[in-house]
Amino acid sequence: MIHKEDIDKIFEAARVEDVVADYVTLKKRGVNLIGLCPFHDEKTPSFYVSPAKGIYKCFGCGKGGNPVSFLMDKEQMSYPEALRHLAKKYNIEITEEEETPEQVQTNNDRESLFIVSAYAQKHFSENLYNTDEGKSIGLGYFKERGFREDIVQKFQLGYSVNKRTAFTDSALASGYKFEYLVKSGLTIDFNKDGEKTIEGSEPILHSSEKKFVDRFAGRVMFPVHNISGRVIAFGGRTLRTDKKVAKYINSPEMEIYHKSDVLYGIYFAKKEIIHQDNCFLVEGYTDVISMHQAGIENVVASSGTSLTIGQIKLIRRFSNNITILYDGDNAGIKASFRGIDLILEEGMNVKVLLFPDGEDPDSYSKRVSSDELKSFIKENSKDFISFKTSLLMGEVQNDPIKKAQLIKEIVDSIALIPEAIYRSVYIKECSRIMDVQEEVLLSELNKIRRKKFNEKGIAPATTNSEFTPPVEDIIEANLEKTNADSEHQERDIIRLLINYGNNIMQVDSEELDEENKPIPIDISLAGLIIHELQHDNIVLENVLYRTVFDEFVVQLEQGMVPDYNYFTNHPNTEICSLTVDLVSSPYFLSNWEQHSIYITKEEDILRNSLNSAIFSLKSRRIEMMILDIQKQLKENPGEEETMTLQQTHLNLLEAKKEFNKLLGRIIVK
Ligand code: ATP
Ligand code: MN
Repeated sequence: MIHKEDIDKIFEAARVEDVVADYVTLKKRGVNLIGLCPFHDEKTPSFYVSPAKGIYKCFGCGKGGNPVSFLMDKEQMSYPEALRHLAKKYNIEITEEEETPEQVQTNNDRESLFIVSAYAQKHFSENLYNTDEGKSIGLGYFKERGFREDIVQKFQLGYSVNKRTAFTDSALASGYKFEYLVKSGLTIDFNKDGEKTIEGSEPILHSSEKKFVDRFAGRVMFPVHNISGRVIAFGGRTLRTDKKVAKYINSPEMEIYHKSDVLYGIYFAKKEIIHQDNCFLVEGYTDVISMHQAGIENVVASSGTSLTIGQIKLIRRFSNNITILYDGDNAGIKASFRGIDLILEEGMNVKVLLFPDGEDPDSYSKRVSSDELKSFIKENSKDFISFKTSLLMGEVQNDPIKKAQLIKEIVDSIALIPEAIYRSVYIKECSRIMDVQEEVLLSELNKIRRKKFNEKGIAPATTNSEFTPPVEDIIEANLEKTNADSEHQERDIIRLLINYGNNIMQVDSEELDEENKPIPIDISLAGLIIHELQHDNIVLENVLYRTVFDEFVVQLEQGMVPDYNYFTNHPNTEICSLTVDLVSSPYFLSNWEQHSIYITKEEDILRNSLNSAIFSLKSRRIEMMILDIQKQLKENPGEEETMTLQQTHLNLLEAKKEFNKLLGRIIVK
């Protein structure tokens, strides 16, 4: 096995033009290279190599790809062989590990579980359509629920017939191993830790006294898909009204199914989550399915568990915005506050929607038209802090002690939000709803945040007065960041590069016209950012961001500006997923349209975004230098050294103030 880090290194180093040039004579044609295709016979060249894009393409035979696929195709190498070949060519040292027998076993186990699950899904679907019981009971139930046929098919719903061992018998007869049927949870083995005589051996299992049973017998089946659409687990709903029978049962935890990292519906929702830049979170299977049927597809369910960090991160890959839909009579709303704090802490935006009393997304979407549902959601989604505030305010009434507690609780939540600007808007909102002076809330907020940083063992960088006005808070927030780095600012630079690198901006050049006015020139946003950072010798610290940045530099030198497609197709999977994050992450202010802070799209105010990003990074770097000097001063350097440090310290503080003025102006406008 070749390590992923090494694979990334190879992908980074390999130049398609070098690799191809070992087989094909290439000539320059514009920004591309052209030659006779090595994959088919031709007299006139139609084989293009784009060094900028890192790909080759034959317009004669259609073959195309990256350096690795070239070798695989041309030399019939396997993927690891091609990687090894390139590693040698570029002198990249790779550490290869033999797969241990355990690793081989683990991989086999996982794959076997996938295969068994896929079989089960087909089996349950066939029951639904091809057995009398399935048709009348299973399909009948779905119809009665109002699920359309196409929706039943899309979600691959099924039915497990009401015989104790029907599924397991059929799986064993088709050659699936008892061991995996049990591991997948589809079969329950009564002998699991008991008699070892039954080693999945058919003769005993098929005897009259079976020692196993189907987990889901007599239930309608909801397969759970992973993000790439493979079935990994099931939920089964009983059709009995007997209160003693659990309404829903689910597959147990196993290698391919870790509940805390799974969201029901994510496979069917991911595209629309990106498109809508929002994800609806509902309670269960039926809510997801009914919403789809009503034409709302950016919806997932946490199914039975309370929201976990793993699930939040899964959503975050596609959008920064989550709207939680609650039943009208949901007793668990307060219990879910913890999960919501987790979302805030991840720097994501949470909205909340409360359905009318007695309704859930499933029932409500059946009762109203699709358009009505959509406008209901639109009009009734509240940002989480206001929701929590107004919900709890009802309980507080005129009890000052309770009110004080509530304030603390709300501010605790606000303090989790990483973005200062969000915090400041929420504080305003909270002040309005609770009728408490903003300064009081801010002072509480600062207290909590300072305490948090102290707990983490890092002294706050500045000695603050009791209260900090909002803009100052925005600025100080950067200094408060626990790990004194500029990851956040660097990320914003990369976000702008990938999203808008191609945009042309007009800037004043250093040359003057006859009237001594600077002559304006056109430059790509990417060019401008690169110029700005290189001018001040700023090197990005985050390796991944630096890689993307360097790629822009190289490509710009060749007269190309890569767009986000280039990065989404990038062989480096980390860059791919970073790009997906950045392309789908909203401009951080765009959510505040309803507060009439901004009503514009980012494209329209790109210049502001750009300035803000560059100033933020530079300002952050100055802050980091200040922190560094403060640290050095604490270590009691000699007298002379102290004086120099203090002078530098003053200069840096001065510079920071200037930057903050610029920043403040941009943010507050
Ligand atoms: P009913 O027809 O009585 O409304 P339902 O099938 O709609 O039943 P609810 O009790 O309304 O189920 O629950 C709503 C959602 O909550 C369901 O879609 C289901 O996915 C989910 N749910 C309820 N209990 C569980 C459970 N134990 N495990 C997983 N999901 C559950
Ligand atoms: Mn229901």
